[in-house]
Amino acid sequence: MSTKQYDMTVSDIQVDVIKKDIKNIHLAVYPPTGRVRLSAPDSVSKESLRLFVVNKLGWIRKHIRNMKSQVREPDREYVQGESHWVDGNRYLLNIIEEDSKPSVHIRNKQYLDLKVRPGADKSKREAILKEWYRDRLKEKIPPLIEKWEKQLGVEVNDWGVRQMKTKWGSCIVDDQRIWLNLELAKKSPDLLDYVVLHEMAHLIERKHNDRYKAVLDKHMPSWRSRRESLNEVVY
Ligand SMILES: [Zn+2]
Repeated sequence: MSTKQYDMTVSDIQVDVIKKDIKNIHLAVYPPTGRVRLSAPDSVSKESLRLFVVNKLGWIRKHIRNMKSQVREPDREYVQGESHWVDGNRYLLNIIEEDSKPSVHIRNKQYLDLKVRPGADKSKREAILKEWYRDRLKEKIPPLIEKWEKQLGVEVNDWGVRQMKTKWGSCIVDDQRIWLNLELAKKSPDLLDYVVLHEMAHLIERKHNDRYKAVLDKHMPSWRSRRESLNEVVY
């Protein structure tokens, strides 16, 4: 089998092209960086491959974005002085060991006081903080849903918060139910607002097509930059 390899740049996307003795064109996006690889039969011309990639740009971009959104912050140890994010702001964790009800409190716009019982380990500390994040997030969501229900003319029957690995939210259109990622508690409120709109706009249009994007453009012209910020990893 003969193999030839070259690079091709289409729009702002670099594609590794591999020509070999195969029948069909294969296009793939690889984690973690979203490297794009195109395998193609020897007989297909450069120009045809370029056109092929141009037609798939939307698909490629979507996969690159998904891959980048899976790049998460490093694991936390829940120790003194560690950085933790709340509503898009960074705080330094301050552990207070006290034999009373555990609590979390933001102090002086700088510290996140985490009160735990003496000997509470990493997983216990994590669980307390997650509960606090969950409560905060759950308070913020209903007003946003209400706002977008009015603006979009749709109705949400049910919503929930859960930890998700690869998505910021999801929408079960048939049940008119939306799910939001617990991690959004760490992001700024305008990014949460975007995700709520994103999911609710699916009640108008299921697919991420032009009709769907027109809904976002109309109601939140800055949605693209918000989406970009969401997937930035900040340490
Ligand atoms: Zn969507």
